[in-house]
Amino acid sequence: MKSFQELLKESVSAHGHICAGQVLGVRMAILGCHLVGIENPKDKLFRKKLIVYVEIDRCATDAIASVTGCQLGKRTMKFKDFGINAATFVNLDTRIAYRIISTENSREYAHQYAPEETTLRQQQIVGYQHMPDSLLFDVQRVQISLPENDMPGPPKHHTICDCCGQIVRDGKEIQCGNETLCRPCSDKSYFKIIDPQELSQSAVNFLNSRGL
Ligand SMILES: [Zn+2]
Ligand SMILES: [Zn+2]
Repeated sequence: MKSFQELLKESVSAHGHICAGQVLGVRMAILGCHLVGIENPKDKLFRKKLIVYVEIDRCATDAIASVTGCQLGKRTMKFKDFGINAATFVNLDTRIAYRIISTENSREYAHQYAPEETTLRQQQIVGYQHMPDSLLFDVQRVQISLPENDMPGPPKHHTICDCCGQIVRDGKEIQCGNETLCRPCSDKSYFKIIDPQELSQSAVNFLNSRGL
């Protein structure tokens, strides 16, 4: 694996700014890869051997993606919306998995590892680079049952919604009594369709211009 500084530089460039989250995320990813025995996650040898579960959609997640090369679109990054600064690294060959949690009290120690910095932000950015793993993180050895439908590779299963006819891949349909439904047709949807009558004239004109 590249050096910490090289990896940080890459993640800052992909993320758009330097922040404490980039430092934490890069360190978390380096530690996670070592713990599960993946020395260079971007090497061909380890392609699709690593899956990372992230538990928050904030800065550190971008750093973890940058270091590991794990991506939602490759099904190698899974998002669990827990609001916790933590990530779990899984080696698909050995099934060894470690969950790494960013400690809350690392904030209190940051200034000790960056005595020359005067702002909390800089103390965290610099301090987190020098703080030992034992202060920065808690580590748990965990077991993960990875459903076949969540694995990388082409979809192994698809079904058709009884209500709207939409094809649903990867076993993500919902069984409601006798009916098999897509999530938008069940009560599990994240959106509500707006009646076209309520759209503004400019929206209607734009949609019409695109034939939609
Ligand atoms: Zn950031
Ligand atoms: Zn449907």
